[in-house]
Amino acid sequence: MSDTTVTPLGLSPAKLTVAKENTYFVWVLIVSILVWLGLALTIVGLLYALLFGFILWLGNGLLVAYLRAEAVRVTERQMPELHRAFVDVCARLGLRQVPGLYILQSGGMLNAFATRHTGRDFVVVYSDLLEALGPDSPEMRFLLGHEIGHLKSGHILKQVFLAPGLFFPLLGPAYRRAWETSCDRYGAFAAQDVGAATRGLLVLAGGREHGRRIDAAAYAGQYAQERGFFVSLHELTSTYPTLSRRVTDVMALADGAPPPRAPRHPLAYLLGLFMPGGGAGSASPAGAMVMIVVIGLLAAMAIPAFQKVRQTSQEKVCVNNQRMFSAAFDQYRLENGKGAETWDDIVGPDKYIRTMPACIGGGSYSANYDDVQGYIITCSVHGAGHAGAPASPR
Ligand SMILES: [Zn+2]
Ligand SMILES: [Zn+2]
Repeated sequence: MSDTTVTPLGLSPAKLTVAKENTYFVWVLIVSILVWLGLALTIVGLLYALLFGFILWLGNGLLVAYLRAEAVRVTERQMPELHRAFVDVCARLGLRQVPGLYILQSGGMLNAFATRHTGRDFVVVYSDLLEALGPDSPEMRFLLGHEIGHLKSGHILKQVFLAPGLFFPLLGPAYRRAWETSCDRYGAFAAQDVGAATRGLLVLAGGREHGRRIDAAAYAGQYAQERGFFVSLHELTSTYPTLSRRVTDVMALADGAPPPRAPRHPLAYLLGLFMPGGGAGSASPAGAMVMIVVIGLLAAMAIPAFQKVRQTSQEKVCVNNQRMFSAAFDQYRLENGKGAETWDDIVGPDKYIRTMPACIGGGSYSANYDDVQGYIITCSVHGAGHAGAPASPR
């Protein structure tokens, strides 16, 4: 198949996004709205959200500035062949405004990404990938189409606004993987060539020289064969489908059949539940930043809740102490016919209370006698939580 041109028959522009992506979107949206609402209710949470939003904006601004000043901007004059291919792909995918396209030298890495800043879209292709695929090959069109797919689907903004849901274990990474599956379809449609889409992915897997000579079917077979616990866990926690799976999926487009599904190890789901999204797979600085933001936001929500729990448990212990004092004073009065005058009357090795209990909130206790209410114990921190039993009439 590697030398034939196959048009993906099953694809139409309206059906490039996989159904799974839309399903996961609803759940991620629900989780995100709940978290954002929770944050909006606490001032601290709101401040954190604003602060981290600002840091995120700043970081992204610097990244885009770096592209504008250091990377090579592709125009009619600069790499015209690549520019023409890019404009073609944008038109085919129905993108009205052509984003900025930049070539970035990145020390041999084979990658590309899309980003957005203050309403402008950017696509970046690493120079080695350009050299590996060529400026106007169907493989390059596949790659450009994939990135345009991210922009068309609004994935960049979703990455920010749906951050809480994207961080949710199992769900978040599954949604991100669906993004990539959809975008591979955008790419295949842009290239109008399933074989080229496959070869593009094989170059990512095997490098610029040997990638093209890789046996696609054998590589796709790795997806079907490697179904162990750790591979399953790797899949579940990754924000990208494995390359062997992406090749499998893209190859299935050739005959319009749904891609074959291989089962995962059930225990991997269990363990995956405890691994927040974006952990293993997010190597990009933006991904890491989003993760830090979300951790900060979750901490902002968790800390007040934790403090409240701690405070109420302290109060409970203190009220318990007060109750114990009150009972001891009453007992003293009953047995001695007169009220206790000092704490020493009731606290001691052979007294009513063996050792003086301390308030764990750091308060100190005072006792007052009241004819109506009996002994009232007051804590300097927690107040009079417990009034003693009414004093017996004398
Ligand atoms: Zn992608
Ligand atoms: Zn207290």
